[in-house]
Amino acid sequence: MDYFRYREDELFAEDVPLKFLAGRFGTPLYVYSKKTIVRHLRAFKRSFSVLNPLICFAYKANYNRKILEIMKKEGFGADCVSMGELKLAKKIGVPSSKIVFNGNGKTEEEIEMAVGMKIKMFNVDSVEELLTISRIARKRNTRANIAFRVNPEIEVPTHPHIATALKQSKFGIPLEDAFSAYELAKQIPSIAVLGVHFHIGSQITEVGPFLKALRKTSAFVRKLGRRRIPVKFLNIGGGIGVRYHRELPADLDTYAREFAKCLKIPVKIIMEPGRAIIANAAVLLAKVVATKKTRYGNFAVVDAGMNDLVRPSMYGSYHEIEPVKIFEDRKKTKYSVVGPVCESGDIFAKKAALRQVFAGELLAFRSAGAYGYSMSSNYNLRSRPAEVLVDGKNFIEIRKREKTEDLI
Ligand SMILES: *Cc1c(COP(=O)(O)O)cnc(C)c1O
Repeated sequence: MDYFRYREDELFAEDVPLKFLAGRFGTPLYVYSKKTIVRHLRAFKRSFSVLNPLICFAYKANYNRKILEIMKKEGFGADCVSMGELKLAKKIGVPSSKIVFNGNGKTEEEIEMAVGMKIKMFNVDSVEELLTISRIARKRNTRANIAFRVNPEIEVPTHPHIATALKQSKFGIPLEDAFSAYELAKQIPSIAVLGVHFHIGSQITEVGPFLKALRKTSAFVRKLGRRRIPVKFLNIGGGIGVRYHRELPADLDTYAREFAKCLKIPVKIIMEPGRAIIANAAVLLAKVVATKKTRYGNFAVVDAGMNDLVRPSMYGSYHEIEPVKIFEDRKKTKYSVVGPVCESGDIFAKKAALRQVFAGELLAFRSAGAYGYSMSSNYNLRSRPAEVLVDGKNFIEIRKREKTEDLI
């Protein structure tokens, strides 16, 4: 069930009219549905229970503290990629046994912090990084748990910017070079070799690419075992896609069933979903500032820009645009919906079919919960929006709108 739906002619988030929230908190505004988040978390747990995985939410998809607290409460761990995310996970009280640390440019400072926190595992991007981690762990008289991020070189049907396991990718160690990295790691006393990690990309709506990666990495895990480097964990990353437009992503049960069928080695699975949990749990509300007609067509200019939601201009992503109030008698017209930022790329939709809109009216951009606020910026010295979490007929402001004074 969709918790963002019309009652008569008005769009609601659960039991709260979006128009009311826009009046109360202003626009642009991110509005999350708690019921959607909890449903996705539980669906994930239920579907993948056949694998009994450790599920770490990818904080980069959404780092709002209140939202992460929901995830923690549901038993999810944290997939962190920066000092900030590590600190946040700690502050929220995520057990260190459920924190993994990713990234291809971990600084010494970040590694120091993660070693001190005794996190579950570093997903190590290079041999050089391994040596830094081992040095820091030795200095502290401890051992750091690691998995190497391997690159299984899988072509994925997604945007090139979010395909992360191509031959030319900056991430990880090519599988053919990984064995020597493991041999080295095995010999370092301050390092405990725990697993193998891969992440093939994001917004992947088919099971096939994951199965290919699973097969390649399983074979590698077997090889490690034969050479006396047994590993207990296989971290299969994130990347499960969602429906933004006409995609028909496989459902979670299918992913889980196929993964379980494919997996023939005795390892504990770690997963790092981001988008699949949070993308469809929020809308970005925006107000129409002006409309105009040029020889090209109609434009609706809204008060949200690429600084608030960069996905369309960065990846050409589609976000469904819905009017907050439907006027049945208005005819559908083609609009290019654009933001106010001084960039030609600040476009949400080209010639989308919308009923006529006028200045002052509200539009909702669907599926804005993942890589929405977390990728926002202050470009054009624009303050970043507020965020509200709706739960039934209740709502709380979970992040205040930035003030210009904070920025200048
Ligand atoms: C981005 C990322 C994720 C999460 O990806 P989603 O597509 O949001 O599920 C997980 N693991 C790693 C290493 C990532 O870089």
